[in-house]
Amino acid sequence: MYIIPREEINRIELEVKPDYLIAINKLVKQGIESALGEIGITVQINNDELQNWCRQIGSSFLDSESDIYYEKITEASPCQLMEIYDKLKRNYNFAVNIRGKRENVFKDDGWNRARRVEELATAKKFLEKCFPYNRFVSKEEEYDAYEYCKQMDITVCVYCNAQLTHTVIRGKQKKIRPQIDHFFPQSRFPMFALAFYNIVPACQNCNYIKGNKYCDLSKIYHPYDDRQSELRFVWNSRKLQIRYNKVVARCTAELFHTEDIYNMYEGIAEKIVEKAQSYNKQYIEDVMEIMNKHRLDGEKLSKDEIIRNIYDYVPREECFGTPLGELRHDILDDILRKAYC
Ligand SMILES: [Zn+2]
Repeated sequence: MYIIPREEINRIELEVKPDYLIAINKLVKQGIESALGEIGITVQINNDELQNWCRQIGSSFLDSESDIYYEKITEASPCQLMEIYDKLKRNYNFAVNIRGKRENVFKDDGWNRARRVEELATAKKFLEKCFPYNRFVSKEEEYDAYEYCKQMDITVCVYCNAQLTHTVIRGKQKKIRPQIDHFFPQSRFPMFALAFYNIVPACQNCNYIKGNKYCDLSKIYHPYDDRQSELRFVWNSRKLQIRYNKVVARCTAELFHTEDIYNMYEGIAEKIVEKAQSYNKQYIEDVMEIMNKHRLDGEKLSKDEIIRNIYDYVPREECFGTPLGELRHDILDDILRKAYC
């Protein structure tokens, strides 16, 4: 699936985003202020340059005139986040000594080097304090990951369209919620850890598979994308296959191991196909006549409704939110179109 339908995005932007931003902006402001107030504690190593960098970047996060103002980050679109990242690289970089070489903290290979270099680890820790994702998932905030996931109300994983991603809150008990994927990984972009368009409720498998891989927007679909997903399931030569009309669809599927995941559902696809191929056109006509004759409310079901009842056909607009909805839609669409149209 990979892309949330436009009408769902409209609902999310209208109903979820405003509450999220109010709560998160408050959290981030506190985070930056406390990170700035604790520079002496956070930056334990004796490095004036590093302390100055923390002060400068922290103050810029708080400055509404700055191009990295925190409210701009939390509400930035995926493309805008990448523009902000370019600005960070250009204007807010800081070089540290790594094995005798000067290397920048914002670098495209991420912060892996931070494990070995204390200055880098400290710089990363400072950014994590400014954008305190740990508070968002701590269960101690009034508005947190549970509230966000509940409001998002995405019950099937956006990435695989297979696993359920329910949120259960009973009274004050926060029981179950989906995992939260950072589209641009948190390990490389700690300053985007709470950006609205960078967090995506996802199932455990997809979150694990995607891991810390960097997603280039020109090669990978973003869940809030304007593009249409050009991926289609087909039943061909007694096998479930996936067709890609665009390179970006193939790259996205490769990133999420979609073919491996859907191999596990080949048996389900086979049963769907067997059922759909078991009857001829007359069967639908006969069932329609009987069902409409015996309906207690006197309402007449259309041919589409009858087909839907018999085969559990999922219309395109209902694929999102139906486990394996796309699989059912695509393979049934092919067979039923040939059989009944
Ligand atoms: Zn998934």
